[in-house]
Amino acid sequence: MPTSSHSSVASVVPCPVVDSLDAILPEEPLLMMGAGPVPIPAAVAKANAIVINHLGGTMVKVINQVKTMARYVFQTNSKWVLGVAGPGSAAMEMAISNLAWQGTRVLSIKNGFFSERMAEMGRRVGAQVSTLDVDDGVVASLDQVAEAIRRERPEIVTVVQGETSNTVWNYHLKDIAALAKAAGALVIVDAVCTLSTMPLEMDAWGIDAVITGGQKGLSSIPGVSLIAFSDAAWARVKGRTASNAHWCLDASLAENFWHNAGYHYTAPVSGVLALHEALRLVCAETLEKRFARHLKCSLALQEGIAALGLKLYAPAECRLNSVVGIEVPQGLNPGDICGHISRQHQVEISGSFGLPIVRIGQMGEQCREHNLFRTLHALGRTMRDLGANVDLPAGVAALEKSLSGGARAAAR
Ligand SMILES: *Cc1c(COP(=O)(O)O)cnc(C)c1O
Repeated sequence: MPTSSHSSVASVVPCPVVDSLDAILPEEPLLMMGAGPVPIPAAVAKANAIVINHLGGTMVKVINQVKTMARYVFQTNSKWVLGVAGPGSAAMEMAISNLAWQGTRVLSIKNGFFSERMAEMGRRVGAQVSTLDVDDGVVASLDQVAEAIRRERPEIVTVVQGETSNTVWNYHLKDIAALAKAAGALVIVDAVCTLSTMPLEMDAWGIDAVITGGQKGLSSIPGVSLIAFSDAAWARVKGRTASNAHWCLDASLAENFWHNAGYHYTAPVSGVLALHEALRLVCAETLEKRFARHLKCSLALQEGIAALGLKLYAPAECRLNSVVGIEVPQGLNPGDICGHISRQHQVEISGSFGLPIVRIGQMGEQCREHNLFRTLHALGRTMRDLGANVDLPAGVAALEKSLSGGARAAAR
């Protein structure tokens, strides 16, 4: 065997031997029915496999279409739509860190884990953050919000449309935005799990910044997110004198790429192409039909779960449809349920940050009838295998009955 002089120099870190992905990934892909990421359509997967130049004519066309489609999905005519390389939390941090700084008075309506994250980001940029703490299973009343706004005189109010952690839907969102606006505050809305699954009208409701991720309602990949600023919010971004400690998330720098065909950082081109396809599919379906599909599927799933004999976590009046929370029966724990349903049925669902619930997502491609049947069946069998008493045939029958009965409860 020929030996070169190099072979005698042992590398400090030896070359590793690892498994191929084929050896790691399950033979049959798991059905992603948790709180995200969600299954992606074939067109999104195909786009995600392409790399193009991040600058130049093709990318400019793609970016322009992404912005145009995003304006439809956000329901805004604002020019100030931008993409973000990063998770939904990066879009959240872009909103907070560009609009708030040392001393900015921020009021965060805190319904749980994710709405608290906005408060935490505010504290990290030195803002003076107060929180309106809301218990699980309820929303802040408009009186409470009005009172907090009077007391704190916030320049910015942050609020989540759907609190994914405890599955509460902030159905007062429009009125909260109006209260904040009347008091001269800008409103930042976390719509990460809800955008394109239920109505959100950025302009009509007077919202100043909306953030979303790719991997939830839009059924794109995780890691490329969207944000929209109103003209008023953009004026605050442009008018600030304090420099932004974040370089990647500086909206003025991001404007170079997202509005001026220039360079900020190398955009995640494949992810942007994937997002383009996800948005194109939303536009092809139309928001009206997409909302109706989500409503019909989520309500049917909820009825199926109830007919199994399981209890839904959030009360009906503030129950989020995008992510359904289910109380864990006595004697079981969320980790065992999620592990069993994944191993035995190749269906992924989620626990929730210490709460005694499991969660099933109803976002984007999760809202397909065949996915509902498979998931409800897998859930029922899992509960039975683990010793809980459920009526599986009744659950499946209720699901079928609800789906074939057409969309009810059009009030939501
Ligand atoms: C998932 C989620 C987030 C966080 O999104 P990441 O992509 O994990 O950063 C924030 N807010 C809500 C409401 C969410 O559902």
